[in-house]
Amino acid sequence: MLKQKQIAFCLCFITYFCFWKLTGYACIFLYLTGFSCPGCGMSRAWLFALRGNIHQAFFYHPLFWTVPVYAGLAFGKKQQIQYKERKARHPNEIFYLLGIAAFFIVYFYRMANSSVLQKNIQNGLFYYFVSKGIEVYQVSFGIH
Ligand SMILES: [Zn+2]
Repeated sequence: MLKQKQIAFCLCFITYFCFWKLTGYACIFLYLTGFSCPGCGMSRAWLFALRGNIHQAFFYHPLFWTVPVYAGLAFGKKQQIQYKERKARHPNEIFYLLGIAAFFIVYFYRMANSSVLQKNIQNGLFYYFVSKGIEVYQVSFGIH
């Protein structure tokens, strides 16, 4: 089970890295929609955190410090077997739900207040295709 998780994690990381190098975008959501996602700024936050600049790290993503916590929860294998046997609700589930809630609360706050996040729908690939589709429709039906 743990090996499958590690392989999936590595495949996600490789896919993400290839996407980043091919498109120049570090975020698939931003690339498609023109809007930053709840995780945007995380890489920059960690680059600053690893250099010891915690203030800048919090500026780029206030929840950057949660990554090792959740990685520990996701890859920690000690309790998982015990809870499966007891058929009880795993205590990590509440931490996952709290983490997701925290990311979305912080996301909406940052979308309203932070200069780090982008919110221009016209930069997204969806917008490009929809506007091209409208153009083709207008040309083919003689509407201008
Ligand atoms: Zn993003």
